[in-house]
Amino acid sequence: MGLLIVLSGPAGVGKGTVCAALRKRMPELVYSVSATTRQPRQGEIDGVNYFFRTREQFQDMIKRDALLEHAEYVGNYYGTPRDFVDTTLASGRDVILEIDVQGALKVKEKFQEAIFIFLLPPSFDVLKERITGRGTETKDTIERRMNEANRELGLLSHYDYAVVNDEIDAASDRIRSIIIAEHCKGYRV
Ligand code: 5GP
Repeated sequence: MGLLIVLSGPAGVGKGTVCAALRKRMPELVYSVSATTRQPRQGEIDGVNYFFRTREQFQDMIKRDALLEHAEYVGNYYGTPRDFVDTTLASGRDVILEIDVQGALKVKEKFQEAIFIFLLPPSFDVLKERITGRGTETKDTIERRMNEANRELGLLSHYDYAVVNDEIDAASDRIRSIIIAEHCKGYRV
């Protein structure tokens, strides 16, 4: 069995960027593409960044139990397709999920053996700058995302590791070290 690695933390903390840097360093790591009902941002490709789905299609996936977890975040659904994760882990490869805090806690109920990593901003001000600076969100969305981030920071104790995203390469290096160390744990060899 491969390891299931759950990279989580508030939106805007840089999960996507750190995850992309980590995947470059560890090409053997398999990324789980999520399904979402949110509109694609410029440059995003269906099946690569997300599986972009209608609310009806998403609800159908929930009904069919096709999602390992799902969460509603700022008015949109996000979820992890279950089959892909199961078959990839069974083939012995490691899978990384880059998901929000609600979703990570749901995965924890089902996969206690997964590795839960919480990505932290260097400070709350930096997080606000990052959320605002993305330039793709409305004022209302920014405020909602900040409130949500504040609440989520309180859930840090449910995680195995905390990694500060002060610098992308340094943060992805720390995560790589965590994964290597987890593979070296006696009972996983
Ligand atoms: P964004 O709209 O900025 O791409 O993502 C919003 C939030 O949803 C981010 O925190 C992202 O990590 C999270 N997210 C992306 N995919 C999933 C998923 O499959 N499940 C859950 N629970 N959250 C996800």
